Amino acid sequence: MAGERDKNFEWCKSTTQVNQNEALIFEKSSPGKKGYKLAPLDVPEVDAAKLLGNAARADLGNMPEVSEPEIIRHFTRLSTWNYAVDYGMYPLGSCTMKYNPRVNEAAARIYELAEAHPYQPEKISQGVLRVMKTLSDVLIEITGMDCITLQPAAGAQGELTGILLVRRYLEKQGNPRKKILIPDSAHGTNPATAAIAGYAVENLKSGSDGLVDLAALEAQTTEDVAALMLTNPNTLGVFEQNIRKIGEILHSKGALLYMDGANMNALCGKVQPGHNGVDVMHLNLHKTFSTPHGGGGPGSGPVACKKILEPYLPLPTIKTNEDGTLGLEYNRPESIGRVKAFYGNFGMFVRALAYIFANGPDGLRETTEDAVLNANYIRKKLEGVYDLPYKAPTLHEVVFSDRLQTAHGVKTGDIAKRLIDYGFHPYTVSFPLIVHGALMIEPTESESIEEMDLFIHAMKQIAEEAADTPELLLDAPHTTRIGRLDEVSAARKPILRWKKPAEAKKAAE
Ligand SMILES: *Cc1c(COP(=O)(O)O)cnc(C)c1O
Repeated sequence: MAGERDKNFEWCKSTTQVNQNEALIFEKSSPGKKGYKLAPLDVPEVDAAKLLGNAARADLGNMPEVSEPEIIRHFTRLSTWNYAVDYGMYPLGSCTMKYNPRVNEAAARIYELAEAHPYQPEKISQGVLRVMKTLSDVLIEITGMDCITLQPAAGAQGELTGILLVRRYLEKQGNPRKKILIPDSAHGTNPATAAIAGYAVENLKSGSDGLVDLAALEAQTTEDVAALMLTNPNTLGVFEQNIRKIGEILHSKGALLYMDGANMNALCGKVQPGHNGVDVMHLNLHKTFSTPHGGGGPGSGPVACKKILEPYLPLPTIKTNEDGTLGLEYNRPESIGRVKAFYGNFGMFVRALAYIFANGPDGLRETTEDAVLNANYIRKKLEGVYDLPYKAPTLHEVVFSDRLQTAHGVKTGDIAKRLIDYGFHPYTVSFPLIVHGALMIEPTESESIEEMDLFIHAMKQIAEEAADTPELLLDAPHTTRIGRLDEVSAARKPILRWKKPAEAKKAAE
């Protein structure tokens, strides 16, 4: 198979390449080796036990002992085993894996920003406070909201913060409520958020067009409903066109409209949710505004809201003093309190602001247009090759299903694994849940037409393989160091700690 594709070299993104075996760093260790050389000691040596007493650790456990070139080569080799946004297209739908421009990194490493201490006095923190104030102002403009907190460290934490604001607001009104409505096309973090905030979750079915069913919403919005959490564009990549009507229905019953704005990549510069009835929303700086993410962070999930929720924002907030300097306001008696230590993930603020400034208002709008154009290019080229269950216009991502391939016994997960052999990171598999066997693809604006054509070609080849040689897909990938994994065992029984072979053997007995 690989040979066949080699004939067609221009389409062949993946090739074989020298890829060395690599032992664990513990296995490379030999006693006494060091990766550093220190100058001779020029002060009297002090015994740690004398200084620290019982607190001094006598047994340091198993620490690897290797030389400098060994450790550098070890991690450099390992880094070549990974797939990364800097390596190629990463079409993971819902995750907005866009390229992170290096200028962001240059800004984040400016000494005075990178080394600022959270406890340094406000007087000498005016620069970092200005970064936070400017970013706040820009995001308020982008969202069309009234105020913002930058504190939450991720989208999901932003959701929780936003729903806690709603809860506090309703409690203060003497009108605590029990339920949160969540459409079946919402992101999975939404029901988790509502539950953690102490609400019962009520599912709202989508109509056949993939949008919120207004009649169902009207019927389900009772006096018990605190809010609706609306992912917009929803996880089908479809814009909720009736968002104003949705807001009216909720507001008429005293409920609020929460918008999951993680997908602002499809709206930035085009739609201000604050002008469309949204009361509170979060942003994912690590998606829309290109700060690195994946592998657990660091992220940033600012929450923007309307004036009615302002008193409850986490503390501290940023204030402008009478003399024009900036400061932090802690005197906020109605605040829900802190949601994170200090002020949020400051490094992400610098990166996001650098990205926003580098693009400017027109550039951000163009980014949105390109993201939508790219998703529609892929949709057009793959429609028919893969089943497109919802025909509503696509914004930044497109969701196919594996319906045409299941006839050959091939599922979305098999197609995704085979995509690895073609040199691409898989798309998002089996999500959203309202599409059975979903293939969720989000190219982002970062991809050139050349890279997308390679991706489209790979997806078409795989569809042919699914029909002709399905067994090729069922145990894909074939070009990776390690083949198909037992994902259930990997998730349920992960082995995260290395033990000396003798200990491991003993533990297994
Ligand atoms: C990514 C995403 C989230 C969660 O964001 P995290 O930063 O991963 O917590 C929530 N909602 C939507 C729609 C998303 O795409």
